[in-house]
Amino acid sequence: MEVVFARGMAQLAERVAALGAKRVLVLAPPSRRFVEQVTAALAAFEPAVFDGAQVHVPAEVVDAAAAKLAETRADTVVAIGGGSPIGLAKALKLRGELRSVALPTTYAGSEMTTMYGITRGASKQTGRDPRVRPDLVWYDVTLTQGLPIGLSVQSLCNAIAHVISVASTGSILGTVRAEGFAATAQTIRAIEELLVAPTDLRAREDAQRGASACAAVYEQGKAGLQHQLAHLLGGATRLDHAAIHACLLPHFVAYLRETQPALVDELEAALGRPSLAAYLRDVLVRAGAPISLAALGATREAVTTALATRPELPARVALAAYDNSYL
Ligand code: NAD
Repeated sequence: MEVVFARGMAQLAERVAALGAKRVLVLAPPSRRFVEQVTAALAAFEPAVFDGAQVHVPAEVVDAAAAKLAETRADTVVAIGGGSPIGLAKALKLRGELRSVALPTTYAGSEMTTMYGITRGASKQTGRDPRVRPDLVWYDVTLTQGLPIGLSVQSLCNAIAHVISVASTGSILGTVRAEGFAATAQTIRAIEELLVAPTDLRAREDAQRGASACAAVYEQGKAGLQHQLAHLLGGATRLDHAAIHACLLPHFVAYLRETQPALVDELEAALGRPSLAAYLRDVLVRAGAPISLAALGATREAVTTALATRPELPARVALAAYDNSYL
């Protein structure tokens, strides 16, 4: 996998040609945000567009995109957007030989992992497969410049959650663990910079590099309860993935404070943030983002029904995130 950090798409076509691509299908959400920019940059590859990407990758969307792929005979998909179009590209790669390019516009980090998720009904299945990795990741920082500050901070909390989640399972050690803590610290610095200057390109670069490094560490570990709860609630409510992570994270850290105090001590020291749980909730407030699942629009019934299907998960973390009652 090739990873490029750039300002713009000037050499994108060259790199896509180097992959051997002849015809591309651009995968985008219904907003078609940045689609014209991508089709212009890749005009030589007769770009077609599928603009039905949705959060949590519903199976029916994968079917529709696969039909469009067959119809257009594209040999390469180019996902432009957040984890939703990038996740759709992954689901398509599972179905057969296909090249893919990711142009991330959020900080979800899916482009750096072999993990995928597909939702059928109210149930989200996740898995790992090396085939789903993009062949090229093109981080054009200008695509993130206008990401609203609330969404930016929620998405960066998703990045931080990647590291805390794998650290909580004890599955990252030594250098990888140190890299994870360093990437989290960089991401927190970027949040502070963006809260002051949301369109500053240097701050956006810090955020992009920090989040990418967090996802690369996540890839090397085993996801913990934070991710299991987020996927459970995402499948059940179809609410925005980053927003769910952001609401859960302070309560998950508070839970770790009780169950793994040494880990939280270490994190707080590495990040220079005493009272990490309260800090993670407060950055959401400062960004104007919702701090509870109820405020996101989840019903208590949807949350409790989903939790009842997974009694081994710590329901109190999700219930506290529901009404922000734990901290
Ligand atoms: P998303 O792709 O659904 O984007 C969230 C919202 O932000 C959408 O409304 C989108 O239109 C908007 N948006 C995106 N970029 C924007 C920009 N630059 N400016 C303005 N608005 C913009 O959400 P996401 O949080 O990026 O990704 C969530 C999906 O990715 C979920 O399906 C999740 O399971 C998956 N995911 C997978 C991994 C992995 O490792 N496999 C990691 C994280 C997330």
